[in-house]
Amino acid sequence: MKIAVPNEADHYDTRTHEHQHVKCSHCQKVFDVDMAVPQSFRDKIKKETGFEIGRLHMMGIGLCQKCRNKVKEKL
Ligand SMILES: [Zn+2]
Ligand SMILES: [Zn+2]
Repeated sequence: MKIAVPNEADHYDTRTHEHQHVKCSHCQKVFDVDMAVPQSFRDKIKKETGFEIGRLHMMGIGLCQKCRNKVKEKL
């Protein structure tokens, strides 16, 4: 599966089962997170919007461990 990430090189996935992504806002690296979205999350969306989600893809933005260490060194 190929995940198109805007403004950067595509993230190539070897995982075919549901998983999520987190992206480092500093080095732009995309990491895989082995986690399915809980059913309660889908239920809540359905209840509030009437929308039934087939496949949910989350992209978390933050700092990876390497960059967090770099930021710490600078402080
Ligand atoms: Zn990083
Ligand atoms: Zn992935």
